[in-house]
Amino acid sequence: MDIRDGKPVIRAEHATRLASPGKPPLQHPSTGGSEYAPKLAKREGIGFFRRIFQGEPEKRPVNCFHCGNVFEVVCDAQSSQCPKCGGYISLQDYEVDTDWRRRIQTRGDVMILKTGSIIGVSVQCHDLTVAGKLAASVECSGTLRIRSHGKIVGNVTCRELRVERGAVVEFQGEVHAGSTTIDGNVKAQLTCTGTITLEKKAHLQGLARAGALVVKAGAKHTGMMEVVKAPSDAVEAV
Ligand SMILES: [Zn+2]
Repeated sequence: MDIRDGKPVIRAEHATRLASPGKPPLQHPSTGGSEYAPKLAKREGIGFFRRIFQGEPEKRPVNCFHCGNVFEVVCDAQSSQCPKCGGYISLQDYEVDTDWRRRIQTRGDVMILKTGSIIGVSVQCHDLTVAGKLAASVECSGTLRIRSHGKIVGNVTCRELRVERGAVVEFQGEVHAGSTTIDGNVKAQLTCTGTITLEKKAHLQGLARAGALVVKAGAKHTGMMEVVKAPSDAVEAV
């Protein structure tokens, strides 16, 4: 906590506020700030110390680009090193609002804004949200979320594919996903180890293979659909 004008101000960051058991609250609105200020600075130091050494920072799994090893990183880290192969893993987030022509390799998230485009390069990331243009090959360890209209030229691999209502997308390469939810218009050759869910406004054209299929009233599918009953999730996509 910070003190401004004698009042405690909670910081925007997600640092845990630690209660101090058995001790009176440090900042009381009715007390003046000045006499507490030096003490507070000290307390804050302790709080910071505790956050680092006793707090449990949120972690998330990351899979290594180089060897495929999955390991955990602290959520707000900017980079990491694979404990297995020693490879460098960027965890930087990108927000693309112009024409982007460089390869992206991160396990952070990438957001292509309406005014942005990624064309002719490969994208590896965790979550990828597309509101602009994407003509690239994609590998997402998280969710690929499509909100725009357009063609996706390269092959796509993602844990989860979501095509939102109003989106129109044509995948020209193959799409491999863990699970898929479609509420827009999609042309694709889609292989899904888990479930394909077609929501009310979905229109899926093309060959689709999935472990299971859920079709809501109103959804349309044109083309071949193959439901492959898998003994486990580990279906090899042919
Ligand atoms: Zn590795």
